[in-house]
Amino acid sequence: MLITANNPTRRSWLKVEKESDFPIQNIPFGVFFTKDDIITIGTRIGEYAIDLGAFHQLGYFDGIPLTDDMFMQDSLNDFISDGRKTWRLVRNRIAEIFDEKNSSLRDNVKHKEIIIFDVNEVEMLLPINVGDYTDFYSSKEHATNVGVMFRGKENALMPNWLHMPIGYHGRSSSIIVSGTPIHRPYGQSLPKGETTPVFGPSKSLDMEVETAFITTDANNLGEPISIDEAGEYIFGMVLLNDWSARDIQKWEYVPLGPFLGKNFASTISPWIVTMDALEPFRCESPKQDLSPLTYLKQKTTNNSFDIKLKASIETQNGELTEICNTNFKYLYWTMEQQLAHHTINGCNVRSGDLMGSGTISGSEKNSYGSMLELSWGGKEAITLKDGTKRVFFNDGDNVILRGFCKNNEVSIGFGKCTGKILPPINL
Ligand code: MN
Repeated sequence: MLITANNPTRRSWLKVEKESDFPIQNIPFGVFFTKDDIITIGTRIGEYAIDLGAFHQLGYFDGIPLTDDMFMQDSLNDFISDGRKTWRLVRNRIAEIFDEKNSSLRDNVKHKEIIIFDVNEVEMLLPINVGDYTDFYSSKEHATNVGVMFRGKENALMPNWLHMPIGYHGRSSSIIVSGTPIHRPYGQSLPKGETTPVFGPSKSLDMEVETAFITTDANNLGEPISIDEAGEYIFGMVLLNDWSARDIQKWEYVPLGPFLGKNFASTISPWIVTMDALEPFRCESPKQDLSPLTYLKQKTTNNSFDIKLKASIETQNGELTEICNTNFKYLYWTMEQQLAHHTINGCNVRSGDLMGSGTISGSEKNSYGSMLELSWGGKEAITLKDGTKRVFFNDGDNVILRGFCKNNEVSIGFGKCTGKILPPINL
């Protein structure tokens, strides 16, 4: 089925600013509270949030097999379960109805009032009920940088790293939507040169600039997903800030990996951008140093996406400083390889599962996706526009991730993924 929703020449009768992340070619999916306090699934064009529950009720999806309450839900899990054919039919229809040449909704004032909201008047919620959250570690530059700092240059990459996408199981309970503030977490850490740990608020609160993909029901327990089919089970992507407390992490991570240094919060952007919308930005993935084992070998080499990723700190006086400028395409292991690896032992993946990429760092210093790397383990402070310095984050910092794709015809973006750091709670 053609993805007619991607037609780059299409214009909408809804006004879209030139620099918008949400032209009619994007059509992402999210969940929000309308100004009448109703929860609905929706999409976004320009600065307008579109209530797909009402859109469906008023007959604009007629002819597409959808349950009556498909969009009147508080998560996208059921819609995602319906599979790629439905996702495509729905995006294509939305594009058609909002096309400037289509008068059906454009000229129906009453319906427009029910369906269309100013995006600033709605409250975005978590778009999915995250069943399971897995975080990979698939940027070679990031893994190498961290390895050099923790173990020295000779042992930077662990011997397994080039053979498989390394990952760990995180917590889904603390996945939060953009705009939710976080408190500086408490934990144990081992001060440098000491042999006894101390307890207190983390002194090295950090971000991880990541993306995450969201799966549909993919396999039954015991049945792996093949590398060639893996892409069929990926619905879309969001931005992910995988907050990390480096001092807690450093003390706890041996031998079982990340735990309390990671699971206090992970923030995602509210609009899921579909893989269909990202298709025009498909690009070569990095050449892999070693030929992977057969179950991880892909037939083609254009398995990545050119998604520009940026991180900024907004300080309490409102001043914004960009601290990281990286790209999804630097990622060594592809999403298909991650999903094929995840299920090769028969592990079952369900609708709404979230798979983090791992921190995405490039080779240039300003492309490092964490403060740990940007300040090189806390040794080199970054000076912000307001003159203050950071090695890790301060209380009051608002950390903002952005992501977008751009070619000569169209740009598709993710909007913002933000989180403000509040002081530790009183224990
Ligand atoms: Mn991470």
